[in-house]
Amino acid sequence: MVKKIERTEKEWKEILSDGVYHILRESGTEPPFSGKYDSFKGKGVYVCAGCGNVLFDSENKYDSGSGWPSFWKPITDDAVTTKPDLSMGVERIEVNCAGCGGHLGHVFDDGPPPTGLRYCMNSLALEFKGSE
Ligand code: FE
Repeated sequence: MVKKIERTEKEWKEILSDGVYHILRESGTEPPFSGKYDSFKGKGVYVCAGCGNVLFDSENKYDSGSGWPSFWKPITDDAVTTKPDLSMGVERIEVNCAGCGGHLGHVFDDGPPPTGLRYCMNSLALEFKGSE
């Protein structure tokens, strides 16, 4: 079960850095190849930078060449939620944290087997927790 976190935008603004706030609460996108986890290969899990909800396992991370950290699945089916995003004139599927609703990135259908999915995430939306 994912623990639900609710905060006002004012509270989020106080808690999060400007960069993290922009991604999570304003659906921002960091520039490609700019994020600290794009080519990072540590073993462990990635949690939400807003609420600590465990989102992705390094086992499911791969190098998509896109410039953003990419995973072929979330750690559990209920860790994230998805919804259509019609901004920027194209239909994309937005990925949000199931705990706090924060914007994480988008999911595309050009990923590797077995899912064929590419969860294209912003490094700023994530925090890595090493396994040792
Ligand atoms: Fe969260």
